Amino acid sequence: MTTSAKQYVNDVFEIVKKRNPGETEFHQAVKEIFDSLVPIFEQDPVYIEHNILERMVEPERIISFRVPWVDDEGKVRVNRGFRVQFNSAIGPYKGGLRFHPSVNASIIKFLGFEQIFKNSLTGQPIGGGKGGSDFDPKGKSDNEIMRFCQSFMSELSKHIGPDTDVPAGDIGVGAREIGYLFGQYKKMRGGYEAGVLTGKGLDFGGSLTRTEATGYGTVYFVNEMLKDQNDSFEGKTVVVSGSGNVSIYAIEKATELGAKVVACSDSNGYIYDKNGINLETVKRLKEVERKRIKEYVNEHPEAEFKTEDGGIWSIPCDIALPCATQNELNEEAAKTLVSNGVKAVGEGANMPSTLDAIDVFLDNGVLFGPAKAANAGGVAVSALEMAQNSARLAWTFEEVDEKLQNIMANIYKNSVDNAEKYGHPGNLVVGANIAGFRKVADVMIAQGVI
Ligand code: NDP
Repeated sequence: MTTSAKQYVNDVFEIVKKRNPGETEFHQAVKEIFDSLVPIFEQDPVYIEHNILERMVEPERIISFRVPWVDDEGKVRVNRGFRVQFNSAIGPYKGGLRFHPSVNASIIKFLGFEQIFKNSLTGQPIGGGKGGSDFDPKGKSDNEIMRFCQSFMSELSKHIGPDTDVPAGDIGVGAREIGYLFGQYKKMRGGYEAGVLTGKGLDFGGSLTRTEATGYGTVYFVNEMLKDQNDSFEGKTVVVSGSGNVSIYAIEKATELGAKVVACSDSNGYIYDKNGINLETVKRLKEVERKRIKEYVNEHPEAEFKTEDGGIWSIPCDIALPCATQNELNEEAAKTLVSNGVKAVGEGANMPSTLDAIDVFLDNGVLFGPAKAANAGGVAVSALEMAQNSARLAWTFEEVDEKLQNIMANIYKNSVDNAEKYGHPGNLVVGANIAGFRKVADVMIAQGVI
C-alpha cells in the first residue's frame, strides 16, 4: 500500500519531534514547510519514494563549541557557539551568524532549515546553513566584541571556507563583527580567502548594496505584490518593527517609493511618529551611537515612545513589515492589523508571524509575503558578493541593485506560479516553499543517497 502524502508528512513530523525534543522554534518552522508541501507529494510521489523529507530535515552536520573570552575586567567568560550545516545539495552551506542571548540549537536549526528553501528560491548555487552564539553584544565594549569574535572564529575557521561554508551577519552581527571575524579567519588560515564570509567592508571584498539588500529586497517583493493589484507604495502608511539592519533599509526604500513609515521599534518598545520617521536620526542612533530607540523622542518631541509588547501592530497601517525577530506578530496582532485595514504584510525578519497569524492574513485576503521569499534579497546579494570575490571584481551599486530587483521579481513570479500550479492560487507560503523545495529535492535524488 502506498503512503498518502498527508500520512507521509505527518509521520516524518512525528520523527522530527521525537528526535528534537523541546525545540519549539524548529518544530514550528518544519510544520509550516511540511504542511505546504502536501500538494507536491500528492502530484509527485517520487519524493516520498526517495524519503526526501526525512533526509532533508536532518542536518548534514551540527557543530557546537565552547567560546571562552576575557572581558574588560579580566574575568573569563564562556559562551556556546553553533554552526548547523544543513544542506549542501545545490552549493556550499550559506547563512548568517546570530549573536543574541536567546540563541540555542532550536533557533539555529529553524533558521538553517528555512535557509535551504530560501537559498534555493534565489536561483543561486548556495546550500543552507546557519550559526551563532548565545553571546549578548549589548553593552559590550569594542574590545570585548573583538575578543569574542576572535575566539569564536578560532574554532569556526576549522569548519568553513569559500567552497564549503560561507557565513554572513544576522541579529547582533553587522559590519563590525564581520570585520573582526574575517581578520581572525585570515590569521588562522594564513591566506586571503575573501569569499569565506559575506557582508564584509567595502575595502576588503564587500559588495555594494549588501548592507541595504534585505530591507530593500523586502520592499521590492511587497512592491511586486502590490503591482499585481495595480497598486504601489505611493501614499501608503507603513509600520516597520525593529530598528536594525533590515528595518532601517526597509524604511529607506519604502519612503523612497512614496510611503510614510510611522513606527519602528527595538526590544524595549516602539516609537510612533505620525509625521513619518526621521530615518537619519534612527540611523545615527542605531548604526553609529548604538543607543536605544526611545532616545528618538528627545530629538523629535512630537513622536511618542511606548512599551507594550507587540503594541506596534495596533497602529493603523496599509502595509506592515515585521523586521525584528521570530514570533513577534501573533494571532491577536494579526487580527488587529486586519481590522485596521492592512493590505499587505512583508516578512523582513525570519518567521516573525506565528502560524495562527499567517492563517489570519491568508483567510482575510491580505497580500502576504513570507520570509523565505520576501527577505531572500540579503542572501541573494551575499551570493553576488561571492561571485565578485571569485572574479576579483567589484560591481557598482546600480548594477547590484538592478540584479537584486530582478531576483526579487523572479522569486515573486516563481512563488505565484507554483501556488497556482499546486492548487493554492495567491498563497505564497505554499508557492515559495514548493518552489524552494523542488530544486533541492531533485538534486538530492540526482546525487544519490549520501
Ligand atoms: P539587527 O541585529 O541589525 O536588528 C535586530 C532588530 O530587531 C533590533 O532593532 C532589535 O532590537 C530588534 N529585536 C531583536 N530581538 C527582539 C525582540 N525579542 N523583541 C523586539 N525586538 C527585537 O538584525 P537584522 O536586522 O540583521 O535582523 C532582523 C531579522 O531579519 C532577523 O529575523 C534576521 O534573521 C532577519 N534577516 C536578516 C538578514 C540580514 O541580511 N541581516 C537576512 C535575512 C533575514 P534590540 O537592539 O533591542 O535587540
